[in-house]
Amino acid sequence: MRLNPFGGSRRTRQADAVVTGAGSGIGRAFAIELAQRGGRVICSDIDGDRARETVEMIDDAGGKAFDTVCDVSRMPDVAALADTAEQWFGKPADIVINNAGIGRGGTVIGDAPLSEWHQVLDVNLWGVIHGCHVFAPRMRAAGHGAIVNVASAAAFAAGPRMAAYNVSKAGVLALSETLAAELAGTGVSVTVLCPTGVKTNILEGVSLPDDAMSRWGERLLRWTERPPAPIIRGTLDAVDRGRLYVVPQVEAKLIWQSKRLLPEPYTRAAGLLERLAR
Ligand code: NAD
Repeated sequence: MRLNPFGGSRRTRQADAVVTGAGSGIGRAFAIELAQRGGRVICSDIDGDRARETVEMIDDAGGKAFDTVCDVSRMPDVAALADTAEQWFGKPADIVINNAGIGRGGTVIGDAPLSEWHQVLDVNLWGVIHGCHVFAPRMRAAGHGAIVNVASAAAFAAGPRMAAYNVSKAGVLALSETLAAELAGTGVSVTVLCPTGVKTNILEGVSLPDDAMSRWGERLLRWTERPPAPIIRGTLDAVDRGRLYVVPQVEAKLIWQSKRLLPEPYTRAAGLLERLAR
């Protein structure tokens, strides 16, 4: 690991990395950027074909990557992922990106089926818990490493009609803050990424219940026009600086500040704005 001239270590240079949900969007962008920074990357995804596509993209660009299937909601899969990484790298991973997640929304609490709650929490929250549970002790024992958890601005900005998603991401934020406190001084850093809209396939599995919700979905889609690559480069630079929070976009920063300064007006305004937008 090379030294950072500004202090701290350049954790993301030539770092052997594991990325979950690496077959698309933000996870793919992390895998490609980490490979460009000279590291070997394990690209894992529940969808093996997508993970393989990411590996082919990295191979074509001259990088080193390996694909594997892992459903992050299943603890045995995540434990096997860490073992695979150790075998391939010959040592524990330097970085893990707990990224895999799904988007669901469109219905209010009480109408949203409990099966949706379970599905979202199993992947978005339990997936990250599994990743931290498995990788943190190995990195602590090695005396170095970086854990990056992908949350969302939804972690602190509870917009209506996406309760399960909001709760899952608030859980990831709390988990990351707890882990950062527990790992302080061990050589292992924790970073939590909280973006607003990013142009990915996240809305692929989201079926909105009525026309009004479809219009709401289209507005949301229009908002999600920023590509992931610059956000991911900034996040990895923040990992190099040992930063805990990455709140990348301007509106994400605005929401973060207004929620901190004016929490109650913020929540009421979020509900009213959503009703007006429909
Ligand atoms: P995406 O749908 O493009 O990619 C998600 C990837 O995760 C897919 O390849 C999918 O196959 C994989 N996946 C789904 N369930 C899985 C499971 N159980 N185990 C392993 N892999 C699984 O979406 P994305 O936008 O790149 O999402 C990545 C992360 O970013 C998610 O945690 C999401 O909540 C978060 N995020 C996205 C946005 C956005 O606007 N796109 C904003 C904030 C946060």
